[in-house]
Amino acid sequence: MYTTDQAKRIEMTYLRKSGDLKGWSWRRISWNYNGRPSGCIDVKIATGSDGDNYYMELDYKWKDHDAAEWTPIDYKVRLQPTSCGFGGRRWWFICPNLNCRRRNSILYQSGRYFVCRKCAGLKYESQNYSGKYSFLRDLFEAEDYERSIKRWYYRGKPTRKHRRFLKMTRGMSENERLDECLKALRA
Ligand SMILES: [Zn+2]
Repeated sequence: MYTTDQAKRIEMTYLRKSGDLKGWSWRRISWNYNGRPSGCIDVKIATGSDGDNYYMELDYKWKDHDAAEWTPIDYKVRLQPTSCGFGGRRWWFICPNLNCRRRNSILYQSGRYFVCRKCAGLKYESQNYSGKYSFLRDLFEAEDYERSIKRWYYRGKPTRKHRRFLKMTRGMSENERLDECLKALRA
């Protein structure tokens, strides 16, 4: 188990600030760990007017700790836009784990692939859970809880589990919750 601070990650905000979400783009993303280069990947980004075939293609080499050879890896992560008023678009990664497919703003390397935080099984640094971040912990617990809810309404009224979920998330939408997580990650 490692923490998000050590994991290699791809942030949508980084791609946006780099101007990579305006059609076709190519970029090399590299990381440092303890002041030393710890790896890099090449990404091709397609957010042009190509129907809804939006993607980020990742191209890199990967080696397991005890493996001798590097394995070339090449796959596409689907990108999804949502409108955010004034004709603007906000872009999301769709987690490439087929059992997940959650919408995310950050992908983390976990083994050979880049996946969402949930799939990477990452834990936030424990200090992030204290003080003003205790709400963040509640949100993560709410994400787990959400999946246990089979029925949201009964006879037109929210079920007990539904009401508990609303309490845990303070009634925030999924987008608002993701924003909160991002804010905390940047803090
Ligand atoms: Zn995932």
